Amino acid sequence: MVLADLGKRINSAVSEVTKANVVDQTAVDGLLKEISNALIEADVNVKLVLNLRKKLKATIEKEEKPGVNKKKLIQKAVFDELCDLVDCKETELYKPKKKKTNVIMFVGLQGAGKTTTCTKLAVYYQRRGFKVGMVCADTFRAGAFDQLKQNATKAKIPYYGSYTEADPVKVASDGVEKFKKEKFEIIIVDTSGRHRQESELFAEMIQIGEAVQPNQTIMVLDASIGQAAESQSRAFKESSNFGAIILTKMDGHAKGGGAISAVAATHTPIAFIGTGEHINDLESFTPRQFVSKLLG
Ligand code: GDP
Repeated sequence: MVLADLGKRINSAVSEVTKANVVDQTAVDGLLKEISNALIEADVNVKLVLNLRKKLKATIEKEEKPGVNKKKLIQKAVFDELCDLVDCKETELYKPKKKKTNVIMFVGLQGAGKTTTCTKLAVYYQRRGFKVGMVCADTFRAGAFDQLKQNATKAKIPYYGSYTEADPVKVASDGVEKFKKEKFEIIIVDTSGRHRQESELFAEMIQIGEAVQPNQTIMVLDASIGQAAESQSRAFKESSNFGAIILTKMDGHAKGGGAISAVAATHTPIAFIGTGEHINDLESFTPRQFVSKLLG
């Protein structure tokens, strides 16, 4: 089930129960079951759904006092639990500082939307007055540097890369060094995302991380990949300990649930969502706003 349908289904389950004259145990159980099924069908991890269901049930049943508006209580409880699902309170997002060098390293599998998102974020910060540069540290995929160069040129963002240097760690350090010398405030490092030999990819992420010492590492995750999002995120978390997630392709037919589970599995907040192929299709992510929109 795609995200938009998930919202509609949860909404109609809540309306159904709140429309009834008496909200009894059977009605509440029906609501909990419908919400759980909808979340599972959208690929949210089953354990997370069971936990949400338990908490929701406890909140709804706790308020048995007469005079308490049960319907309002149910609406609020559902909203709060959904916010909790996408909200990572443990880690605070890094905020780049002006007049300082802020190195932001991107990680993620090929096709997730890394290079596109690097450019989107570069434009986002450039518009906010930062001096931004991009470094292509993907020496594995032929054409990676050309793609970044093309994106950067279109967006008028200075870039660094090499057609001859095969060592991604060297290109990353050289690029960051060059931009640091030139007093760039935000240096975005794009990395490889090849599918083959994953252990090598993760080792490469560790080495680049050690070389450029990023202030923030962001994992780019395709929202449409379903359950696989969780294991993929765990593996990247171990190698690159990213501090933020950007979910891409939220405009498409993303089920989204797998990606939401990745937030919980890695205790890492979502910073932005990608909502299209265009350079401006990047929205900062706030759990309450996201859930409000989801529920329409
Ligand atoms: P990379 O291999 O991770 O660097 O991925 P790319 O940046 O090359 O993107 C792969 C494809 O996904 C391209 O066709 C992008 O235009 C597309 N893409 C990236 N982000 C989004 C998004 O938020 N929405 C949509 N619809 N497409 C996206």
